[in-house]
Amino acid sequence: MTILVFAEKTSTLIELCNGARQLGDRVEAIVIGEAQGGFADKVWHIPAQADAMFEDYTETIAALVEKVKPSFLLVEPTKRCKLVSGRLAAMLGASVITDASELTSAGEAKHMVYGGAAVRKEKAVTATAIVTVGSGVFADSEPVTLESEVETVAFVAPAFTIKVVSKEQKPKTSADLNKSKRVVGIGRGLAAQEDLDMIKDFAASIGAEVGCSRPIADGEGWMPKELYIGVTGLMLSPDIYVALGISGQIQHVVGINQSKVVIAVNKDKNAPIFKYADYGIVGDLYKVVPALTEHFNKVLV
Ligand SMILES: Cc1cc2nc3c(=O)[nH]c(=O)nc-3n(C[C@H](O)[C@H](O)[C@H](O)COP(=O)(O)OP(=O)(O)OC[C@H]3O[C@@H](n4cnc5c(N)ncnc54)[C@H](O)[C@@H]3O)c2cc1C
Repeated sequence: MTILVFAEKTSTLIELCNGARQLGDRVEAIVIGEAQGGFADKVWHIPAQADAMFEDYTETIAALVEKVKPSFLLVEPTKRCKLVSGRLAAMLGASVITDASELTSAGEAKHMVYGGAAVRKEKAVTATAIVTVGSGVFADSEPVTLESEVETVAFVAPAFTIKVVSKEQKPKTSADLNKSKRVVGIGRGLAAQEDLDMIKDFAASIGAEVGCSRPIADGEGWMPKELYIGVTGLMLSPDIYVALGISGQIQHVVGINQSKVVIAVNKDKNAPIFKYADYGIVGDLYKVVPALTEHFNKVLV
């Protein structure tokens, strides 16, 4: 069974190639731009085209899928990759499943619906299934190093394209919460943006990165949108997640329920977050957090 893999980021491409070995015995990767290998049995190299946008490679990928006839085309679940996936599915008459949280070699996938309140099982019904899937789904896969055969693919010009009118740089965040073993999430229990320093001090005392609930980023704008956790944000699986002043709505909880240990601090003893927490402290975070920071600064030197 051949699995073809395609991603925007090289790191994700490699992780998905490693994970794809759980589904099939042959893994082939699509690489746009600089040819590179070592992580797949075969690399299909599409040379970068001047002025081409990422989406402009869709026709070339479609031609490749028709040639390789993989059982799965695994695609990184970014917005642009999903756009390409939809277009590929239409061009190829193939099933597309987005944001699979589980995937079997039989083509059965689980997929969260209703903002994470329910899980739907889906099964691809075409010979090639296009599935957008995060590498976290194959978390226990081992990295492999291979001699990859590299073949260069002729670019197929797109039938239509998009013109870039302007570009604006997003504010940079240094934290990569996906890789953090410990994450502190702050919610609307925080009264003012300047109090984030108190949260950052606490996170530093336990070697954690800071994320937040959606209203802190998307509503208040106190933290970058890239750092909010939940069904429409980051889906995390750290060793420890500490929820501070977060009520525990399902849309947030689906982003943290793969954590090994959840600790919650909330002044409302009936807050839903306590249903998901392994340890809970009922209290005012403005009293609890400085006390915890002081404690960990003493014991974790
Ligand atoms: C389609 C859709 C998608 C969404 N996606 C996401 C998502 O991806 N991520 C996400 O986070 N949300 C998402 N939401 C929003 C979600 O439904 C909740 O509104 C949000 O998670 C609530 O954030 P919160 O817990 O910070 O705030 P609140 O629900 O307002 O909770 C604040 C909590 O802080 C506690 N508190 C207040 N003061 C203190 C104090 N001093 N000390 C201790 N505790 C205190 C309160 O008791 C309360 O429990 C989505 C909503 C929709 C409709």
